[in-house]
Amino acid sequence: MEFSQRTVTCGDLRKADNGKKVVLNGWVHRERNHGAIFFINLRDRYGITQVVVDDDASSELQQTAAQLKMEYCIAVTGTVRLRPEGMINPEMATGEVEVKADSIEILSTCATLPFMIDEDNKTKEDLRLRYRFLDLRCGGIQKRIALRHYFVKAIRDFLSARGFYEIETPTLIRSTPEGARDFLVPSRLYPGKFYALPQSPQLMKQLLMCSGFDKYFQIARCYRDEDARGDRQLEFTQLDLEMSFVKRDDILLLMEQLFGQVFKDVVHYDLPAHFRRIAYKDALNQYGCDKPDLRFDVLMQDFDELAAASSFTVFHEALASGKGAVRALVAPKTEGVEFTRKYIDELEAAAKIYGAKGMAWMKVADGKLSGGVTKYFAGMDEKVISTLGAHDGDLICIIANEKWKKCCVSLGAVRSKLGKDLNLIRPGFEFCWIVDFPLFCYNEEEGHWEAEHHMFSAPQSQFLPTLESDPGSVLGDLYDLVLNGYEVASGSIRIHDVELQKKIFRICNYNDEQAQEKFGFLLDAFKFGPPPHGGIAPGIDRLVMIITGQDSIHEVIAFPKNTVGVDPMDGSPESVDQKQLDELHLAINYPKEDRK
Ligand code: ASP
Repeated sequence: MEFSQRTVTCGDLRKADNGKKVVLNGWVHRERNHGAIFFINLRDRYGITQVVVDDDASSELQQTAAQLKMEYCIAVTGTVRLRPEGMINPEMATGEVEVKADSIEILSTCATLPFMIDEDNKTKEDLRLRYRFLDLRCGGIQKRIALRHYFVKAIRDFLSARGFYEIETPTLIRSTPEGARDFLVPSRLYPGKFYALPQSPQLMKQLLMCSGFDKYFQIARCYRDEDARGDRQLEFTQLDLEMSFVKRDDILLLMEQLFGQVFKDVVHYDLPAHFRRIAYKDALNQYGCDKPDLRFDVLMQDFDELAAASSFTVFHEALASGKGAVRALVAPKTEGVEFTRKYIDELEAAAKIYGAKGMAWMKVADGKLSGGVTKYFAGMDEKVISTLGAHDGDLICIIANEKWKKCCVSLGAVRSKLGKDLNLIRPGFEFCWIVDFPLFCYNEEEGHWEAEHHMFSAPQSQFLPTLESDPGSVLGDLYDLVLNGYEVASGSIRIHDVELQKKIFRICNYNDEQAQEKFGFLLDAFKFGPPPHGGIAPGIDRLVMIITGQDSIHEVIAFPKNTVGVDPMDGSPESVDQKQLDELHLAINYPKEDRK
């Protein structure tokens, strides 16, 4: 199709361009008509330029201008001129100039818009996703998608400069248990057989190490068939990375350097050279979770001794078995916030979600304890206050439970709520490593041990002798990277010894035969001189979400599914023709409630 092609973009023009003949292509962002003068804000992804149709314009041009509506796609030919004094818009990069139109071509018209194209689209999410192609015209999301591009590019540049190869791995693979449920793809050629979409390229990257590609990465799409919830996506993107002949600290250092460089280049933010390392157990004890938000300094404290010395039987009962704990935190006096009964009940409700039976509390006033469980601490005011480092006006929150972890995570929920409610969270980015994770966790429902991360992670060597006799106390060579309270990466040093790998499979309830059937190719590769190796996989969606200050990864993915796993735009998932099912030799066995 013939049309006047742009010579500049809508973000280009400045004062120095005064007098230039230009052609602009773009969308009508806003149009105003002042009598016979038309003002058109023309937009493309680079910016907005004001176009003016003067009152001395030809009647043909005037008629075209009068037809324009929002989001018409047009070409404007005209001359750049300075805006008159008082009309300069310092908010716009092009705000000192405008283009006097000589002609306008309508390249395409626009139907009634379902919502306005604004900087931030505040419309309901399902409507935004139904018309995502329009939603993506909004300035805010355009900037986030652009930042995502630069973020990924900076990662690629950094790793390529250090000798990494980017290698693609297949998306149709064998179904292997990796933690979540696989998405399955039926094979037409082999009736009754299925491929799986990878939950991650885990085994492929380990095989690449066996092949001698000692520095690998991939911007990899991963698929997990989990119940859709919140901003979880069924498919997501991670930087998948693996290296041979490395130990844990090599990988941690590489990541610190990588994010140091990428944050500097992309968001102009200086990170410290090294990130704090916190052992899993300390993270739970102090922050009540394994992804602590370090941007505020309220720390949970050991209250066992003080609890034991109190006369409160609830505390004594929690400690009786030796497996329980009592922990406390001090909510600092904060202007504008009253620690009322109602608010304390809200804090308690947050703790109960994580299994706490209740939350004990005391206030500090005039150097003394008051309210709540104070009566059980007779004569201990000074000891409690000084041990916890509390001050007048503070609120002491205490949780006791006969299970240590439950005690920690429920007080952790109180900590998180306080962080937000008391406005304690510092701006900025605070990374930390969580290390020394348990290698196994016990699956109560199925009655066996399973891998905390995945079954290919190595135990720390000092636990090798007690691997089978005491799996619960084995620590793994595992690490998570945490940013502002989100887990943004996890990884591990891998097992590369066939016998050790088989032992781990056995502990996780796969006998040798089942292990051979599911993971035979990995075990085979381990027979042929596998190198020691390890890796990590930072989540791109989540990192970009945090960097751009968003609460949902939907805001940084061009075409996400909604919160229930549906794409309101293309309607997927959708049924398919009988012919397609027949070709795949499939019959649908509908759940009862869906049967028509
Ligand atoms: N494959 C792992 C995951 O996706 C990451 C890793 O261990 O490198 O969680």
